[in-house]
Amino acid sequence: MKRFTDRVALISGAAQGIGEATALLFAAQGARLVLLDLHAESLARVAEGCAAQGADVIAQPGSVAERSAWDAAVAAALARWQRLDILINNAGITRDARFEHMGVEQFDAVIDVNLRGVFHGAQAALQPMLAAGRGAIVNTSSVVGLHGNFGQTNYAAAKAGVIGMTKTWAREFGPRGIRVNAVAPGFIATPMTAAVPAKVTEKMTAAVPLQRLGAPEDIANAYAFLASDEAAYITGTVLEVSGGLSM
Ligand code: NAP
Repeated sequence: MKRFTDRVALISGAAQGIGEATALLFAAQGARLVLLDLHAESLARVAEGCAAQGADVIAQPGSVAERSAWDAAVAAALARWQRLDILINNAGITRDARFEHMGVEQFDAVIDVNLRGVFHGAQAALQPMLAAGRGAIVNTSSVVGLHGNFGQTNYAAAKAGVIGMTKTWAREFGPRGIRVNAVAPGFIATPMTAAVPAKVTEKMTAAVPLQRLGAPEDIANAYAFLASDEAAYITGTVLEVSGGLSM
């Protein structure tokens, strides 16, 4: 039996990068999927890839910053399968600038997606999970949420906030059968980091004890572990997946 047979998972930011790798991994492991992302076309391509692995999948275009998009995604899962077992709260953006040059609109944009989006997603997904008395939520933080980073005041604030929400929800919903954890990726090779200058990438790689950037699959594997029954006694944790960057 595959790890996620009969399980229904909602994955945000699934049109590329870590979310795409996660969708394909969950599909291979037997999950039924609702994929949420801004980009309808890329999302349809990923959904086709999942379906090619035998997965039943719904592609749901929309913004995680809008509660209505989450409600539509959850409703689609319930209409087709009458259950929602897993939320992977993965969508995120960057709008980097040194603090003295950071406009409040840059701050708000990142908070809207990376923090408020995670809040909306969890609140929408919790309803069927609470009704069923079981569920697993995995939120995406970052090593930047643990340690800060030059030029990322907005991103660090959102990703540290995700850790605070994760631990709070783990306390609030553990007694009701729902586990809530976070993953803190290091520097992962995705479209998000593709624009980083080669010099910076080289410097970052040299600082990683495992001497490489992470692959999207490295994070997808961590999400899958925390979402699975193998993590049945794990809640409120922040799993850093960074090749040892933070030591
Ligand atoms: P990515 O390649 O940019 O993929 C993220 C996907 O989410 C994109 O398709 C993106 O669309 C979509 N998205 C953005 N805003 C959205 C919204 N409002 N509603 C729905 N979808 C939206 O990023 P990634 O590297 O895979 O990152 C995935 C997660 O890991 C993010 O939370 C990120 O902060 C976190 N993370 C990444 C790294 C890294 O090094 N890559 C490190 C630490 C943490 P657009 O293309 O339009 O933005």
